[in-house]
Amino acid sequence: MTGSTDCIFCKIVAGEADASFVHRDELVTAFLDLHPVVTGHTLVIPNVHTAVADGIDEAAAGRMLTLGARIAGVMESAGVRCEGYNLFLANGAVAGQTVFHSHLHVIPRYEGDGFSVRRAIFGRSRADRTKLDALAERLRRALDPIS
Ligand code: 5GP
Ligand code: ZN
Repeated sequence: MTGSTDCIFCKIVAGEADASFVHRDELVTAFLDLHPVVTGHTLVIPNVHTAVADGIDEAAAGRMLTLGARIAGVMESAGVRCEGYNLFLANGAVAGQTVFHSHLHVIPRYEGDGFSVRRAIFGRSRADRTKLDALAERLRRALDPIS
């Protein structure tokens, strides 16, 4: 099964729900988190639906990791403060997973950003779509300046 009809991330991959895309290819899709922990918070997901990480095919899993690191690497050139970053993947509700289509969080970090896992789970608000779209465009250009 490549998709799940009631999965919001499958709808994003299929173009049936809005997202601010950072990258798309045959294996994975990256888009900005709608409730960012910090500016630039990006999700990288396998295009094929799987609830948790052990179901991700090896090629897609590898691409998720390398793309997540590449996206973090261009944050600063896209105007996002990023002195370091966390790659975070929650598996199961007990681990804080709320969307059951596996996803890698790319979270830019900087000195004094106030990040904590507790704040990441409970303390977020919905971002403005226009701002997310503008940032996603800057990140796409930083990833692939000649496109
Ligand atoms: P989890 O808690 O499962 O590790 O992370 C799920 C993430 O998906 C959260 O950071 C949440 O803000 C994000 N999210 C939930 N629904 C949507 C959506 O419709 N669009 C986007 N872009 N992000 C979403
Ligand atoms: Zn899905």
